[in-house]
Amino acid sequence: MKNKVIRTAFLRSLKLNPTNLVVAKQVHGNNVRIVNISNKDTVIDDCDGLITTDKALMLGIYTADCVPVLVSAKNEEFKAAIHVGWRGLYSGIIENTFELLKDKFCAKLKKVKVYIGPHIRSCCYEVDREMESKFSIKLDNNKLDLSEIICNKLGKFGVIDVFDVKLCTFHMENLFFSYRRTKCVERVISMIM
Ligand SMILES: [Zn+2]
Repeated sequence: MKNKVIRTAFLRSLKLNPTNLVVAKQVHGNNVRIVNISNKDTVIDDCDGLITTDKALMLGIYTADCVPVLVSAKNEEFKAAIHVGWRGLYSGIIENTFELLKDKFCAKLKKVKVYIGPHIRSCCYEVDREMESKFSIKLDNNKLDLSEIICNKLGKFGVIDVFDVKLCTFHMENLFFSYRRTKCVERVISMIM
């Protein structure tokens, strides 16, 4: 989906306007940017989170193992899309996004819906033991559960409505790209509109 020709054809097949998409450059950091219609059809540099109040805009996140996290307000007054790998998770991309939603958008976080998309799950994500001290957790069989850490962080913000699709990019090879499995350059896109 990083290929513009393929992505454009895909979006058109869904009757969506490809030029209304905004994506983040994604650097495994913790920067969140607020975007509006003037940013349509662009890639926003140096960030892993996007927020908008523009209903016409679609926000997209590319992944091939990392976690796409999408956020919507019940009355659609804003939406957000976040790219979350362990580095971004460790450096506070979740906190930065939800603090911004709370402070700048006066979001009632009890009423937002969060969607956790396909990523490398704890069945397959073997990591170094240093992750235990980084995230103050105890690893089970050296496997890291990114969605569990994300859900814990969301809980601290009072978020209760979380849908986790529970699909693993690493071992569901007929469905997803996995960077860890194949070192691929291809990515899936998760979008909120
Ligand atoms: Zn798996």
